[in-house]
Amino acid sequence: MSETHSPRPASGALTQTGGFLTGFTHTLQPYIGCRFGCDYCYVQESTVHRFHGGGLTWGEYVHPRTGIAEKLAVELARFEKRGTLDQVAIFMSSTTDPYQGAERRWGLTRACLEVLGERPPGLLVIQTRSPLVERDFDLIRTLGDRAWLSFTLETDLDEVRRTVTPHCPSVAQRLETLKVALAAGINVQVAVSPCLPFSSVETFGALLLEHGDRVVVDTYASGDGGGGKRTAKTAIPAAYAAQNWGDWRAEDQAQALYEWLRMQIGERAGWSQAGFTALARTVTEGTPCS
Ligand code: SF4
Repeated sequence: MSETHSPRPASGALTQTGGFLTGFTHTLQPYIGCRFGCDYCYVQESTVHRFHGGGLTWGEYVHPRTGIAEKLAVELARFEKRGTLDQVAIFMSSTTDPYQGAERRWGLTRACLEVLGERPPGLLVIQTRSPLVERDFDLIRTLGDRAWLSFTLETDLDEVRRTVTPHCPSVAQRLETLKVALAAGINVQVAVSPCLPFSSVETFGALLLEHGDRVVVDTYASGDGGGGKRTAKTAIPAAYAAQNWGDWRAEDQAQALYEWLRMQIGERAGWSQAGFTALARTVTEGTPCS
């Protein structure tokens, strides 16, 4: 896979959000594009990719948004001046992984965290699947209960992970990062998103409970923002057919996992959009989130 790093100076940092992320007030994307290039990634069917991809295939490029931390500092100061900083709920990131390999070189995510540490918003959810996030646990911890690590683990079977997301960290690496995060006292949500074929409800479920404070289970049909239409255009249908994994639209296994988790941890297990936005609703609506 070729690689393109073409800096795109950030014109701003925070983007107002809604839709699937209703409850969060903003997203924060330190990069454009994502070298993890997951087969199922819905961003490849979005205007973000069409506008910035320059004809490259999704997964082939990542553009650092240079100067984003400086822009963020100005924007957070504005919220602080208005007295609304506590109502700001940020999701980092929804169209890129803030801890993909490029972060080692550019350090934009860490720079943003340093700024967020100086002016903490009501909530920061860091969405990643990369063990590189461990590097920043010191900064994340300083945000206390205002920060959550939402860490993707779609299956407990590494051969499944390898088929659908060959450029992503292994299951074992991710479990290790989750352990380190919990030991560091960081709030951890495990995102089974999208739920891929897994061993068994009890085995995967127990692993999830051991490695997170909360769990969100999502599917292509419920979570791709188009009722599965976006996923239908990706390599997923062909991959499921080739692997004899059954109907990629089916939600029964994911539902069974969710219901089992719900029995164990109640409200700390969430489904799709409601699960992802539960934390944000505690900030923007004052809804208690156990
Ligand atoms: S890590 Fe996230 S943003 Fe990156 S390709 Fe995979 S699903 Fe898309």
